[in-house]
Amino acid sequence: MTKHITLHNRQVSYTLKRSQRAKRMRLTVYCTGDFVVTVPHTLQNDHIDRYLIQKSRWVLEKMDFFDELRNKQPKVFSDMNSEDMQQKALELVTKKVQRFNRKLKLKFNAINIKDQKTCWGSCSKRKNLNFNWRVVLLPDDLANYIVVHELCHLKEFNHSRRFWNLVASVLPNHSELTKDLKAKGLMVS
Ligand SMILES: [Zn+2]
Repeated sequence: MTKHITLHNRQVSYTLKRSQRAKRMRLTVYCTGDFVVTVPHTLQNDHIDRYLIQKSRWVLEKMDFFDELRNKQPKVFSDMNSEDMQQKALELVTKKVQRFNRKLKLKFNAINIKDQKTCWGSCSKRKNLNFNWRVVLLPDDLANYIVVHELCHLKEFNHSRRFWNLVASVLPNHSELTKDLKAKGLMVS
């Protein structure tokens, strides 16, 4: 169900999902700009409104960031179709993988570019590196971080101290970048 609410004088639309399984409210702003609110099925509407108002700064910040990314899109890729954009993303990511892997020297099978709503990068157990094509729209240092994070998962398939030490060996300022990504609501797995 699509609903509307005014947060800080801005009208915001969202999809309300009532879930039998949800124990708490969950807010998700996708990089497509879609905003989904998942709530326990019995929760009353005025609770939802109150929660959204309480979280309004978080919601608007995410929406602004993704709006900005989408606005950049036509400028950078004025006459590109989505295949061209994926190609462009693959070139960028491949260059970064090569650059950072010169030091890390890790083996992988393939680099895949995906059109995902939430996740910016992932690494499969079969040693495939996956990236969201929208990394081409991100500031360079954030794109670097996403690439290094997934590369390091080739060796350490977890977020252990050993994993973070490996990340730090090529990106000493990784903790600032992680904070920045978290603040922007970008998920890396
Ligand atoms: Zn990870």
